[in-house]
Amino acid sequence: MNDHPMLIAGGGIGGLAAALGLARQGMPVRLFEQAPAFEEVGAGLQMSPNGVRALKALGAWEAVEPACVIPSEIHMRDGRSGALLQRIRLGKTFEERFGAPYRVCHRADLLAGLVASARCNFAIELNTGRRVSGLDDSGEATRLDFADGTFAKGAGVIAADGIGSALRTAVAGEVAPTPRGVTLYRSLMPLQRVPPEIEADCVTLWVCPGAHVVHYPVSNWRNFNIVVAVDGTLPDEGWKTPAPAGEVTRRLPGVCEELALLLAAPAAWMRWPGVDLPALPRWSSGRVALLGDAAHATLPFLAQGAVMALEDAVVLSREIAGTPDLAAAFSAYERQRRERTARVQEQSRRQSRIYHASGAMAAARNLTLRLAGPSFALGRLEWIYRWTPEATG
Ligand SMILES: Cc1cc2nc3c(=O)[nH]c(=O)nc-3n(C[C@H](O)[C@H](O)[C@H](O)COP(=O)(O)OP(=O)(O)OC[C@H]3O[C@@H](n4cnc5c(N)ncnc54)[C@H](O)[C@@H]3O)c2cc1C
Repeated sequence: MNDHPMLIAGGGIGGLAAALGLARQGMPVRLFEQAPAFEEVGAGLQMSPNGVRALKALGAWEAVEPACVIPSEIHMRDGRSGALLQRIRLGKTFEERFGAPYRVCHRADLLAGLVASARCNFAIELNTGRRVSGLDDSGEATRLDFADGTFAKGAGVIAADGIGSALRTAVAGEVAPTPRGVTLYRSLMPLQRVPPEIEADCVTLWVCPGAHVVHYPVSNWRNFNIVVAVDGTLPDEGWKTPAPAGEVTRRLPGVCEELALLLAAPAAWMRWPGVDLPALPRWSSGRVALLGDAAHATLPFLAQGAVMALEDAVVLSREIAGTPDLAAAFSAYERQRRERTARVQEQSRRQSRIYHASGAMAAARNLTLRLAGPSFALGRLEWIYRWTPEATG
């Protein structure tokens, strides 16, 4: 294995997870995050069993678990009538079926757990306030350039700089994120503000014509996370744009009383456009590899974006440990991850069409959910949830 450090661009979920994975394989790592501090922005995350397994393999589960919430059940409801369409229990039987638990947390809590784990590892150097501007892979060492005119040299580069990756072009050419005709809203409020009509200890998904709503408690029961997806595109104003007052309730007319009360409860909403990445021609080139959203950003409708970045980190670290040839390791990583992440992207797109159905299609969906029961729904998620760190995929 090369003694030079690995350089990681981006200190989000994927970059920090890759740093932990590589350090566990004995490789020194230098990570560069553009923000002045590890950013505590974002929304809630569903940590499905495959994500828990990835965190365990990275040695970070113990640091993340205390801030996670154990929801009692997942409920799917009709947003118009309020009717319960499906109920999935998340207790012992679920855990036995998938070999790991299901938790919910806030992105900030996951990030904090990863940062805490990285700070305990002397092989990892964390740098903030360092904006990566380019790279050069032609010399003996790989060079990462920064916006302030400085540079760093290392064995190779992992570009984990998110959906707007500055390094993606160097690997895959120009590929722009694609709007998928949906606007997303998120809000975080204290748990005490949740109307009593809402079952606050569950993960609940409300399906409505042209929209859906997901909510659950986060941050060790202190806060309540709500995400709303509505058909229709708005101009891309980034991830941190406040939504005008009343916009969410205006765009979800005709919902049942409980849901209307919940949507009126938050003091503020943020909004951002629903975009994902089309398939890239390649994820790696020489000693440079893309990871996480930089490679395969997905719509959040299967709740797998962060979890896929964690899985990437596990597979990438394993491949690097197995060979002194970094380019070969990156190619092997790409081969193993491409099909699975593409399937998550495709099913996430399809999921919004199912959730947002109206008329006869919505009636057929509701009937299927009621008749088929939770085992059918869980069966469709097995290929995602049963992933293990040993899997080649
Ligand atoms: C509403 C919503 C709900 C979601 N729910 C889930 C869920 O339930 N489960 C799930 O698994 N996923 C979920 N996701 C997806 C998840 O948040 C992302 O897919 C995941 O964070 C990807 O991690 P990443 O490290 O690749 O990118 P990011 O987390 O975006 O991190 C990229 C980092 O790189 C930094 N950076 C960018 N450019 C530069 C540069 N030039 N130089 C240095 N640093 C740079 C950024 O500041 C950032 O810190 C959800 C997403 C949304 C929007």
